[in-house]
Amino acid sequence: MGIGGEEIMSFAKLNEEIIQCKKCHRLRNWCERQQGERKEFKNDDYWSLPVPSFGDPNAQLLIVGLAPAAHGANRTGRVFTGDTSGSYLLNALYDHGFSNSFQSKHRNDQLKLNNVYITNIVKCAPPQNKPTAKEFQTCRGFFEREIQQLKNLKVILCLGGDAFNQTKRLFKQWGVNVTGLKFGHGVSYDFGNKFPLLIGSYHPSKYNVQTKRLTRSMLNNIFLEVKKMMNSYQKKKHT
Ligand code: SF4
Repeated sequence: MGIGGEEIMSFAKLNEEIIQCKKCHRLRNWCERQQGERKEFKNDDYWSLPVPSFGDPNAQLLIVGLAPAAHGANRTGRVFTGDTSGSYLLNALYDHGFSNSFQSKHRNDQLKLNNVYITNIVKCAPPQNKPTAKEFQTCRGFFEREIQQLKNLKVILCLGGDAFNQTKRLFKQWGVNVTGLKFGHGVSYDFGNKFPLLIGSYHPSKYNVQTKRLTRSMLNNIFLEVKKMMNSYQKKKHT
């Protein structure tokens, strides 16, 4: 079933709500204080607001990160944009036909995603990339609403253990038995016809990339697997 105009409007409304949100004082203060902290971006006009999700509202694939980076998405105003993570991810998305560009520099560039939607569990950049349990909980409602609006969703790709664990909580809420479910690079789960397939990948963070914990070829293999999962979901729906 395709997503209608009403749902697309709802996405715009939801993103507007996210941008206006001020519920977590610690995060709002931190985001607003990042401008001028990095020499290389000293002339940039930081976004500094909660960062909404981005992509194709008809997507079959949802990519989930943890939170915006202080000098990445918090600066540019778009998820996975303007930092190493964004660059790594976009290269892979482009290679697999999910985007019209291999670059993601700023929210005003011409990047268009095809069949993929990208979000973060927490919408505001946290100090040391670590939201508190309370902040996870406060922001979770936005993530849930995003998933509800992706009517064609087949596969959820979680980047990193935190994104995986928070997504796992959501599956539990849906009534799925998540006992023993563990994050692992390339580890995937199938919960039957009613639910999207789930797969984990190491996050393309600067640290993981520099230490080669995650290489381009490893990320490439994740997307090959994701494509297989999208096809297998299609088949299981028709059996
Ligand atoms: S983290 Fe989420 S809930 Fe907290 S202020 Fe940002 S958008 Fe609002």
